[in-house]
Amino acid sequence: MILTQCPVCAAELPPLSAKQCSRCKTRYCGADCQKQHWEAGGHDQLCKKIRRGGGAEQYNANKKYTEAVVVAAEACAEDTKGQTCYICTQALHWKTKEGLVRGCACRGTAGFAHVSCLAEQAKILVAESEENNLDDTQWHRWYKCSLCEQDYHGVVSCALGWACWKTYLGRPEADWTRWCAMGQLGRGLLASEHYEDALSVQEAELSTLRRIGVPEGQMLVAQSNIANTYDLLGRFEEALSMRQDTYSRWLKLKGDAHEETLREATSCAITLSNLHRYAEAKALLRKMIPVARRVLAESDDLQFRMRMACNRALCEDPAKTLDDLREAVSMLEEIEPTARRVLGGAHPITAGIERDLQEAREVLRSRETPLRFKVGDRVICCGGPNHWESGTVIKLWYTEDGFAQGFYAPYQVELDEGRLVFAPDDSDGCVRREAPPEAS
Ligand SMILES: [Zn+2]
Ligand SMILES: [Zn+2]
Ligand SMILES: [Zn+2]
Ligand SMILES: [Zn+2]
Repeated sequence: MILTQCPVCAAELPPLSAKQCSRCKTRYCGADCQKQHWEAGGHDQLCKKIRRGGGAEQYNANKKYTEAVVVAAEACAEDTKGQTCYICTQALHWKTKEGLVRGCACRGTAGFAHVSCLAEQAKILVAESEENNLDDTQWHRWYKCSLCEQDYHGVVSCALGWACWKTYLGRPEADWTRWCAMGQLGRGLLASEHYEDALSVQEAELSTLRRIGVPEGQMLVAQSNIANTYDLLGRFEEALSMRQDTYSRWLKLKGDAHEETLREATSCAITLSNLHRYAEAKALLRKMIPVARRVLAESDDLQFRMRMACNRALCEDPAKTLDDLREAVSMLEEIEPTARRVLGGAHPITAGIERDLQEAREVLRSRETPLRFKVGDRVICCGGPNHWESGTVIKLWYTEDGFAQGFYAPYQVELDEGRLVFAPDDSDGCVRREAPPEAS
């Protein structure tokens, strides 16, 4: 992460005016921490080294970059064995001796490179476009492979994020490359699952944007990225309150038929489902899906994502009805052929739709077969070979956290001895009607 915390006590530092070492620019929460760092934290030894490394932020970024390149090259070692860099044509980088990486959609012998070479290429292209005042800034070269035009992922994205940040961090705060670089770093940290670090970078980015006063849309995108990270961290309540704000501001800014509004509504619904607030998630999506149908291309990613989110809210809800299940199945049946045609069968979205559809169909089929018993019926449950225990049905279509996704037991039964059990299927081998008491 970038330096947003005091190195001694880890307190969050205000974005600009914190106490700093006059020589190396290391920032502290106050004079006490600075003094302690110098006397007991080894800063007297490090200070000169940090200053020679370009100051605290640069020193930190260079160090993190070098570490991230090692991690990326190690993770790619198997894949890149015996290959050479398509930029410098060497296996080992002439200067840094780093190994090769590949983290895009390139296949076969294409796309092997050094992180340093990819970064150098991006830096030069962006500089050229800046010099010539071109509209196309070439910024995408920091996150998209120039051969396959797909985004870098995982540890490669993380190493390039640090490369980008270390390249532009010395620019003035209002320079677009600096805050874009911050966004790039956040993206890389997310891609490599460093969620906490990503969050602190994204928060620093948002407060930078707020200070320099970018258009509201840009702020909302940054805010929505933070909400995504909250979701990934399991901080659903915080994610929701941020999303509700972003959603209502998009609504005000662009109306309900704008792509960003629809995207944010979808994310909002997903967070609501994460919080088990299915009814609200359903209501929101039932309102927005018809809008999406009207304004978005049939092949738009978002069309699929909205239906998948709606399916989830319908099917995960423990209180779902037969009608909910029928709605889920027909909704997925409607988009499945389009996804297959537009994205291909191997695409994760297509695969996800097919998996969801199969699950929803199974649940629907089992629900459509009427159960033999109802709540309150007296039954005996099989508890082992020739061992039956009597009890009362207390719930139909019971589920709990430990069950496989989409699995519902037909009955939950309270045994007379007090334990709660469930019958995994509605058959005589599992649960039977209790014999009526003998007539006396
Ligand atoms: Zn401190
Ligand atoms: Zn210092
Ligand atoms: Zn190279
Ligand atoms: Zn590629």
